[in-house]
Amino acid sequence: MSDREARVVDQVEKRLFVGGEWRDAASGAVFEVEDPSTGGVLCTVADAGGEDALAALEAAHRAQPSWARTAPRERGEILRRAYELLMERQEDLAVLMTLEMGKPLAEARGEIAYGAEFLRWFSEEAVRIEGGFATSPDGKSRFLIMRQAVGPCMLITPWNFPMAMGTRKIGPAIAAGCTMVLKPAHQTPLSALALAGILAEAGLPEGVLSVVPTTDPGAVTEPLLSDGRIRKLSFTGSTAVGRRLLEQSAGQVLRTSMELGGNAPFLVFDDADLDAAVDGAMLAKMRNIGEACTAANRIYAQSGIAEEFSRRLSERMGALRLGRGLDDGVDVGPLIDDKARQKVQHLVDDAVGRGATVLVGGGPGEGPGHFYRPTVLANVPFASELSTTEIFGPVAPVLTFETEEEAVTAANDTEFGLVGYLYTRDLNRALRVSENLETGMVGLNQGVVSNPAAPFGGVKQSGLGREGGRVGIEEFLETKYVGIGGLV
Ligand code: NAP
Repeated sequence: MSDREARVVDQVEKRLFVGGEWRDAASGAVFEVEDPSTGGVLCTVADAGGEDALAALEAAHRAQPSWARTAPRERGEILRRAYELLMERQEDLAVLMTLEMGKPLAEARGEIAYGAEFLRWFSEEAVRIEGGFATSPDGKSRFLIMRQAVGPCMLITPWNFPMAMGTRKIGPAIAAGCTMVLKPAHQTPLSALALAGILAEAGLPEGVLSVVPTTDPGAVTEPLLSDGRIRKLSFTGSTAVGRRLLEQSAGQVLRTSMELGGNAPFLVFDDADLDAAVDGAMLAKMRNIGEACTAANRIYAQSGIAEEFSRRLSERMGALRLGRGLDDGVDVGPLIDDKARQKVQHLVDDAVGRGATVLVGGGPGEGPGHFYRPTVLANVPFASELSTTEIFGPVAPVLTFETEEEAVTAANDTEFGLVGYLYTRDLNRALRVSENLETGMVGLNQGVVSNPAAPFGGVKQSGLGREGGRVGIEEFLETKYVGIGGLV
């Protein structure tokens, strides 16, 4: 580690943040945070258990009434100050993120800006929580519609976007007047702890947010989900864990928001602008080393352009530089751990075993880190395992189709429904296919859909609810109706 990297790690608190205080785990336990590009240990962080989680819940429960009564403008201004602090410290926070997660520094900078934007967006939404007033159809009473904070929330986030997945939940929860306990992924606790410090500095009252990193997620989340004081669970992560958490949430009939796995189809029609389609595929596939829920998982190219498209895509993928995200000129960092790398290799081997051709890449990179070479597979059979499994790595399988109907049927042949992409210059086809894709989001002639001002989320087993946009705050609000009589 360079002096600068060591300073960035040193300046982050590595204890739990509970009720406005930094404290060790009640058990005194700590765990190691790894740098995936070297396999080395960056530092140790306090390892929360059930007792710490309950202390965080108690703090959230205590803070809830006064926080919900805090003026919306004040809640918004705390978010706005936190946005500014994040942007002032963008460079250090980006280095920290690259160290714990591996993505190239330029992408980490991008994520700090993207993550900060959720705080700015929701600082503006905090003062626009609206209710309603109406006269009943028979004219005998009046309806007053109130919007109120849901109450204390449990937030659970994954490692792939260590800052933005936190701010996408914390921003609207603060704006709505909810208190919360955040459990970040064990691989990337440092960005979440740095964010907690920034929010405290921005004036967030004690108890509104607690952060409890842990290596035993069940020990932290189960006691909270079964305790009637938590009113909502907002989860981002895999569909398998999401299903389990939905079952656990049933006990207390919790409100839930679920941002789960994806298996995005990327459709390129014969009439597409091929340069734009290749640019879009590079973004949709390679953003975040392919470790994104929105990553293009299956690229369907129409037969007239499939060969040329695959050739150009391979040229671009083959030119990418693999390496440590903090080194100059690196385009692709390591995967998060060796298990992830083995999974990617298994999916490539399965496709090749069924007849796919490796145009570029196809194996691990060098070094002690968990590197995998950018890979393009052509002539991938529809039955390959990677058609139904989230690859979560830098592998672009190209499948060929003949007709629009065939492409849409194949695109929808999955339990997932987060996002789909399509490239075409035919307006009718663009709108028809956008309507027919069974996804919560569509990238039409663009390879990225994430935007804090737009509603992000999936259908089918990709999730429930939306984050961001005008609807993002709704997930943290309840509707109360007051029927007013005696006015006739
Ligand atoms: P994951 O294994 O489901 O973990 C996500 C979070 O859940 C982590 O904080 C994890 O903690 C926690 N967790 C795991 N098991 C748990 C349990 N039994 N009880 C309570 N919490 C538990 O997913 P991941 O590997 O971190 O992230 C990748 C997945 O997230 C992919 O499927 C991706 O598509 C999805 N994702 C979806 C979106 C979206 O917006 N739809 C965005 C980003 C990622 P530990 O770290 O301690 O295991």
